[in-house]
Parts: sequence; C-alpha cells; structure tokens
Amino acid sequence: MAHTIVSDVCEGVADCVDACPVACIDQGDGKNSKGTDYFWINFDNCIDCGICLQVCPLEGAILAEERSDLQKRR
Ligand code: SF4
Ligand code: SF4
Repeated sequence: MAHTIVSDVCEGVADCVDACPVACIDQGDGKNSKGTDYFWINFDNCIDCGICLQVCPLEGAILAEERSDLQKRR
C-alpha cells in the first residue's frame, strides 16, 4: 500500500517533498482543476511512513491509502 496525494486538493505547497524519506514525491505536469501546481506519490517506492500526511498543511490533500483514481501521476 501507499499514500495518495489527491491531485485536485493539493495546492503545490511542497512541504511533503523534502519531508519524504525516500524521495518518492514528484511534481505533476501542468495544473490541477484549481489551477495550482500539484504533486504525486510514486506508489512503487512509498514506504507508508505517513510523514507527508503530518507535514501537509492542507486538509484532505494526502490520504493514508492507495487511490489511483484520485491521483494524477503526471
Ligand atoms: S500534498 Fe500537501 S504538502 Fe504536498 S504539495 Fe500538496 S499541498 Fe503541499
Ligand atoms: S508516506 Fe512516507 S514514503 Fe510515502 S510519500 Fe509519504 S513521506 Fe513519502
């Protein structure tokens, strides 16, 4: 299992990127439906530590489950 960044909730703050111990969070191409930058988690490398969820300032942007239907990968 992995954590998920909900692409259309994320606002691209990027606190999660530097906090991730395995560097598995990358920026998505273009903008999300809110017109902001967004990031995505590589499900294959995520170790489910939950640190990204603790540092993200945006309620609901990160989920502690793997939801490919809510996360754009690029
Ligand atoms: S998931 Fe949260 S901390 Fe990570 S880029 Fe999006 S808003 Fe920022
Ligand atoms: S749960 Fe941990 S390993 Fe997975 S994306 Fe978040 S910080 Fe990175």
